[in-house]
Amino acid sequence: MSGPDGPGAVQLLAALPDAALLFGPDRRLVAANPPGRALFDLPEGSYTATQALGTAQLVDLVEEAAASDAPAHMATRVDRGDLEAIAAPVGDHVLLLLRDQTARSRVDAVRRDFVANASHEMKTPVSGIQALADALTVTTDQRDHDRSRELAERLASEAARLGRLITELLSLRRLEEESERPLQPVDLVQLLDEELERVAGRARAHDLRIVRHLPTAARIAGSQADLRLVVSNLLDNAVGYNRDGGSITVELAPAGDGWRLEVVDTGIGIPRDDLDRVFERFYRVDIARSRASGGTGLGLAIVRHAVERHGGVVRVESILGEGSRFVVELPVTAPADTDLGPP
Ligand code: ADP
Repeated sequence: MSGPDGPGAVQLLAALPDAALLFGPDRRLVAANPPGRALFDLPEGSYTATQALGTAQLVDLVEEAAASDAPAHMATRVDRGDLEAIAAPVGDHVLLLLRDQTARSRVDAVRRDFVANASHEMKTPVSGIQALADALTVTTDQRDHDRSRELAERLASEAARLGRLITELLSLRRLEEESERPLQPVDLVQLLDEELERVAGRARAHDLRIVRHLPTAARIAGSQADLRLVVSNLLDNAVGYNRDGGSITVELAPAGDGWRLEVVDTGIGIPRDDLDRVFERFYRVDIARSRASGGTGLGLAIVRHAVERHGGVVRVESILGEGSRFVVELPVTAPADTDLGPP
């Protein structure tokens, strides 16, 4: 072949970001770039294709490209992860390129899981609605008005659950995908007061005391809608996972170049092993309790996304049976490289 072996080929391969190995007409390794050497653990030396690649599949791919005079592709799994391999004939040599697809495979798996979970979550209220509608037809035929009313109320509540799930899925998608959002001045105290007002009725019904340690104002630049999602989800959980006669303490204090918000409840708490996982989509410690409190399993995933979009962090501390403390730290202005867009 006219030239790509020797220093020329080495330089060419060194410029490639993916693992690249060049095999000569006798299928011996002529050159490899550092990612290629690292992938197959190849110190400088002389190797046949079999010695270099270790797997028959990849050797066959090189042979196939050489024999057909056209590039050959395959996806394969090696010890270090998932690879996409392309063997391309270059004169009488064969260039083998390998791209690490492990991260991509993981993202695909997470996406597949998400679709499966979301569909599963939707099936429950849809089956409920179907069954209640059937029962309603029967009780209407029987002119049983009391039972019909009860079924209609349950139907409305299942439909509301489905509606909430869809709204939350859409919020999550918007938080993940929308990249340009204007920053607005947001007063966290006003937002907290509005959301405390919203949950006041439910808190009263469970005899919950609300303790408010808030300054007169706490302004940050952010998205009012997203910050409302943070506050509302934390307060909804503090009410829903509390015990009757308990309390909810909401505290806001300056921290670093921003504010630290704490929402503390005296509820059921979260087992230590679940603490890291409660921010995952659809993760619930106790599914029955979550359903009973109207939960969808998406609230804290939304909180985490919204907080991170503002350049902040969220964490939780909890003692089982005693209560939980959710801590959110938000900078006054989201750093320039967050997705919120320019002020
Ligand atoms: P859900 O809609 O189920 O409330 P979230 O994403 O808001 O979903 O929360 C995930 C899970 O974390 C809940 O199902 C619950 O098990 C647990 N959790 C959240 N907040 C609290 C809290 N304040 N106290 C105890 N457990 C909580």
